[in-house]
Amino acid sequence: MKLGKDTTSVTTEAAFAQDLIDFVHASPSPFHVVKNIKAKLAGAGFSRLALTDPWALKKGGKYYITRNDSAIIAFFVGSGDVEEEGFRLVAAHTDAPSFRLKPAPEIVAEKAYLKLNTETYDSPILNTWLDRPLSMAGRVSLKTDDPFHPETRLVSFDDPLLVIPNQSLHMNRKVNEGIELDKQKDMLPLLARVTEEFEKGGFLAGLLAEKLGVDVGRVIDFDLFLHEHAKGCLVGLNKEFISSTRLDDLAMVHAGLHALLDAEPGTATSVLACYDNEEVGSRTKQGAGSPIMTTLLERIALSQGKDREDFFRSVYRSFLISADMGHGLHPNAVDKHDPVHRPILNKGPMIKIAANQNFTTDAETAAVYEALCQQEGIPVQRFVSRSDLRGGSTIGPISAGHLDMRSLDVGNPAMAVHSIRELCGVLDHAFIKKSFEAFFGA
Ligand SMILES: [Zn+2]
Repeated sequence: MKLGKDTTSVTTEAAFAQDLIDFVHASPSPFHVVKNIKAKLAGAGFSRLALTDPWALKKGGKYYITRNDSAIIAFFVGSGDVEEEGFRLVAAHTDAPSFRLKPAPEIVAEKAYLKLNTETYDSPILNTWLDRPLSMAGRVSLKTDDPFHPETRLVSFDDPLLVIPNQSLHMNRKVNEGIELDKQKDMLPLLARVTEEFEKGGFLAGLLAEKLGVDVGRVIDFDLFLHEHAKGCLVGLNKEFISSTRLDDLAMVHAGLHALLDAEPGTATSVLACYDNEEVGSRTKQGAGSPIMTTLLERIALSQGKDREDFFRSVYRSFLISADMGHGLHPNAVDKHDPVHRPILNKGPMIKIAANQNFTTDAETAAVYEALCQQEGIPVQRFVSRSDLRGGSTIGPISAGHLDMRSLDVGNPAMAVHSIRELCGVLDHAFIKKSFEAFFGA
C-alpha cells in the first residue's frame, strides 16, 4: 500500500516541536511563561533592566524587561544608529483562554463535594475542558512588612487536582444534539470529596500556604488559572502534527524566542515582545495596548545618547511582525474557509489579511515578509476569512494605535483554536522560527 506520505525529513523539526511541547508543559500560566523565558534569556547572556533604574545601553547589548510578571520584552541592540536602522519587532502573547479562580472560591455541594468557583478567561471551547484531569497555576501575593510591596511567589500544582465531569449520557440524552454549557453552573471544577464537618473558609489559602511553605496568614490574594494536566505530544502517522494545549500563542512565543536567541546580530535593534491579555483585548498595563513598547523604544534610543527626534525617526524605519496562531483548513469543515485561500498544516506560515483591518497586513508589508521567506526557501500561505464569517483580531491592530510603523500579521495554521488541545504542524513551527530569525538578522 502506498500512502503517499510526506517524505520531508522531520528529524530536526520534530526535535524543535518537542521542545515547544516541553516549554508549554512547563509554562502553565502567563507568569510561568515569563519565568521560563527569563531563564532561557539569562542562559544566553541577556540581562534584566529594571524599569525604575536609569539605563546605559551598549551596542550589541542583550537585555529584557518584564511587566506584571506576565509580559516580557527582550531585545538586542543593533550595531547601527537607531535613527537610521530602526527596530525589528516580533510580538506574540503569553495568555490563553482558561478559567480563573474567583476570590474565596470554595463552594460545597450537598455537604459532600468541594468545588471551586471560577470565571472564564476569554472564550475557551467549553466542552473540551470536560472530563480532563486539570490543575492550577499562577501567582500568590504574600503579606510583608511593607504594604506597598507584597511578596510575589509563583505556584504550580503539578498533580491532577481537579476535574469538571460531564453529565452522564443517561442524565442528558440530548447531549449529542448539542447542548449549551452554562459557565457558572456547568463548568465548576471538582476539587475534593469532603465530610459534613468540612469548613470551607480559607481552604484554598491553606492549600497555597502549604504548597509555598508559608504561614496561611501571609496569603493575601492570588491570580490562579486552571490548565490541562496532561502533556502534549506529536501525533499522526509521521508524527507531523503537534497536539498541545495553549499553542495559541505559546507556539509563536517559542518560535520568536528561539529566533531571537539564534539570529545573527544585525544593524537594527531586534525586539521580541510577549504581551499578556491579548485574549481579553490587550488594554492592560502588560498588554499590547499599553504604552510599554513606545516607552521602551524611546528609552532604548535615549539611553544611547539619542534625542526624541532621533527616536521618532527610528520609528519610521521600524517594522512589526504580529505573530498569532490562525486557522488552517479543517478536513471536516472545509466549507468554513475562503474558497480560494485554504491554508494547510505544514505548508508554511500564513500571512493574515482582512479588509476590515482586523489584521494590519497590507500589500507592501506582505511583500516584505514574503520576500524574506523566499530568500530562506520558506513556503508562505495566505489567510482571509470567508466573506460571511466574522474573523478574529490580534496584536497588530492594537499596536497600530500607538506604534506608527509598518506591520503585518502572520501566524501558523492550526485546528481547534481555543480548544484545551490545539493542533498545528511540526514543519510550520520550524518554518516560522526561521522566518523570524531571517527578519531579526536581515
Ligand atoms: Zn492568539
